[in-house]
Amino acid sequence: MSDQVNFGDELVSPEEKTRRVGAVFSSVARRYDAMNDLMSGGMHRLWKDRFVNRVKPRAGDDILDMAGGTGDVAFRMARRGAHVTVSDINADMLEVGEERARQRGLTGLEWKVENAEALTFGNAVFDAYTIVFGIRNVTDIPAALREAHRVLKRGGRFYCMEFSSSDWPGFANLYEAWASNVIPRIGKAIANDEASYRYLVESIRRFPRPEAFKRMVAEAGFVRAAAEPMLGGLVTIHSGWKI
Ligand code: SAM
Repeated sequence: MSDQVNFGDELVSPEEKTRRVGAVFSSVARRYDAMNDLMSGGMHRLWKDRFVNRVKPRAGDDILDMAGGTGDVAFRMARRGAHVTVSDINADMLEVGEERARQRGLTGLEWKVENAEALTFGNAVFDAYTIVFGIRNVTDIPAALREAHRVLKRGGRFYCMEFSSSDWPGFANLYEAWASNVIPRIGKAIANDEASYRYLVESIRRFPRPEAFKRMVAEAGFVRAAAEPMLGGLVTIHSGWKI
């Protein structure tokens, strides 16, 4: 891991990045779900439905939903009968998630503060590992991928959904204008927190392109690493298999 890493467009030490990412999500936790709807025009719900359809959780599966935040993806998988452990580095996000689970009468989920880079779980304990809109916030991404591989059983599946910059002509410019100008303004107007939302946009722009991330997934030991673009490449589902 190098001495300096990007926090959005700024270069900081790895420790400082982890601290600042923590501050961003503590600051947005209470408004996180409403802001997701507002910023994506409700699309994040469709992306998450599509993602869970790809994961195909079954009754009896043990799934680790990493960087699971307020539980959106975990709830969808638990409703299909999977046993889901929701882990996140940020206790404020998990607290909102647990409250939402109670309101929905969803039981059987486990909530655990964990850093994706250094998990406390044993080797080969999960059937699937999911991480949605989380990995770009992790300071040492190769370390998180190695940990994902370690905690999966043989035959276990890795699934990640992340934003990717669109290459579609016209669409790419439209998205760039929305991301750079509109999202931070919504953050300022609704949450009085322009900086956090500016970080979210910059972190999306800095995340590796799908082909580069696919190589990172393969380097962590996964076979059949694949990158499946959705919506003109705005969002990509990555997957891999542990043998
Ligand atoms: N997966 C949820 C969803 O799609 O609604 C939450 C995504 S939210 C954009 C990103 C989450 O990544 C935050 O809850 C943040 O705390 C978490 N995160 C960032 N760095 C992490 C790390 N090193 N380990 C675990 N979680 C991390």
